[in-house]
Amino acid sequence: MPLMSKDAYIDSLRDERVIFWGGERIEDVPSHPRFRVPIDVALRDYDYGDDAKRDLITYRTEDGSLAHRVYQVPRSEEDLRLRLEMMPHMSIVGGVTGVFMALLSIVDELRKERPDFADNVERLYKEARSKDLRAAEVITDAKGDRARKAHEQDDPDLYTRIVERRPDGIVVRGAKLHITAASLVHELVVMPTKSMSEEEKDYAVAFSIPTNTAGVKIINRSFAPPTLNSFDYPASSHHSMPEGFVIFDDVFVPWDRVFLAGEWKLAGLFASSLGLWERTGGVVDAVETGRIMVGLAQLVSEMQGKGRKPEALNGVAELIAFAETMRMSLEHACRNFERTPSGMVHPNVLAINVAKYQFASQFHQMVKVLHDLAGGLVLTLPEEADLRSNESGPYLRKYMHAVKDTDVETRMRVYNAIRDLTADAYGGWKQVVALQAGGGLLAQRVMMHRAYDMPGARKAALDVAGARPANRS
Ligand SMILES: Cc1cc2nc3c(=O)[nH]c(=O)nc-3n(C[C@H](O)[C@H](O)[C@H](O)COP(=O)(O)OP(=O)(O)OC[C@H]3O[C@@H](n4cnc5c(N)ncnc54)[C@H](O)[C@@H]3O)c2cc1C
Repeated sequence: MPLMSKDAYIDSLRDERVIFWGGERIEDVPSHPRFRVPIDVALRDYDYGDDAKRDLITYRTEDGSLAHRVYQVPRSEEDLRLRLEMMPHMSIVGGVTGVFMALLSIVDELRKERPDFADNVERLYKEARSKDLRAAEVITDAKGDRARKAHEQDDPDLYTRIVERRPDGIVVRGAKLHITAASLVHELVVMPTKSMSEEEKDYAVAFSIPTNTAGVKIINRSFAPPTLNSFDYPASSHHSMPEGFVIFDDVFVPWDRVFLAGEWKLAGLFASSLGLWERTGGVVDAVETGRIMVGLAQLVSEMQGKGRKPEALNGVAELIAFAETMRMSLEHACRNFERTPSGMVHPNVLAINVAKYQFASQFHQMVKVLHDLAGGLVLTLPEEADLRSNESGPYLRKYMHAVKDTDVETRMRVYNAIRDLTADAYGGWKQVVALQAGGGLLAQRVMMHRAYDMPGARKAALDVAGARPANRS
């Protein structure tokens, strides 16, 4: 099958999916103003008309057809490098379609237990690839009381579960929250949010279904109103993507779309599989975020005549250390790649978790450095309309002057970028995303404990203490 065209993508969203936003049932997703920017964002991944971009975002599959590179299973360091090079050019919708890499990274383990379900993973991956579909990572449950297990909740549906097993498939009930781009994808790839015990086996469920499957309902939420001008909101005006509150109201899933149905020992494997690629995406984004923050801090300092002052030099140096730590970590993770038994090459697990942890735990501190250098105009700068007004504009041009060689309009644009990226619509979203997307800090701490060479560290510590190494693995 050929790659999907932009028009075909837009038409594909007219499939009677059940979508809500702001209390309204949205019958026609493509024509609704709320989806204008998000669809423009998604269309960037179908930008196959541009020759240079097409080379970067596509590859030849094993059967010779052309597919989006998000579907390429890296088999070598070079494949991995190309994937990481593509990621900054991919929209968040393409980014979450990487969920197939998570599934394929555990297919060997799954095959040992359920070869039929492993076949389902491989078949649906190939189908999605050949049709050039987009898919969402549908993992995070409502979860209710965090201190209680899934089956101990006041309402048994607070974690997504199997409510009926039939000869032809399973019936599933529950809700998955915060699902990026759920309303704009073709497939909902559902996995357990955590490991499950034997009593929770009905909650050990994974599958992939089309977004318009009967019983699926999606309530949307976004940080951005439908229209924002690009002068005052340089990021939010063209970067927004709704998250979906996805409800499974007794949804039937045929057996050939099921990946897990009660094999509780495998639930944790599914839940952790997504983390690696999700956090890799986070680190790729962190590299660019860090570079932009250095640039903004430098510009805003220069534009106020304090570029050579120790305060500015110190602040910018802190941001450089942050940005370079991100860049070097990603390089290190890629160079020290690992390989699954069936040959998928992926970034180093420890390095990616350390890098994502550093990003998530330092990002707010780095925003503070930038805000400290920038001052109050981050929040109080008048809008573009005031600048363009014949009455108020001259006052802005007079009193926004600071140093020669910086025109007022450029200064305003830099302030708007700082506000929008760190303190307003997109910026508010980013503050939470930095921490929670790909799992909160705890998720990375757990992975660091698992991946670190603890026996080696323990032995080194015992050696330096002059003690006999304890007989522990
Ligand atoms: C913008 C955005 C986009 C997202 N996109 C997706 C997506 O596409 N797909 C998807 O599946 N998810 C997505 N998520 C969800 C994200 O993975 C979760 O928000 C994150 O894992 C935290 O889970 P939670 O929100 O349920 O909060 P909680 O589970 O309440 O976690 C909040 C904090 O409490 C800690 N905590 C939780 N339980 C316990 C406990 N029992 N004991 C001690 N500490 C605990 C956590 O470690 C964390 O630090 C997205 C989130 C955001 C904000």
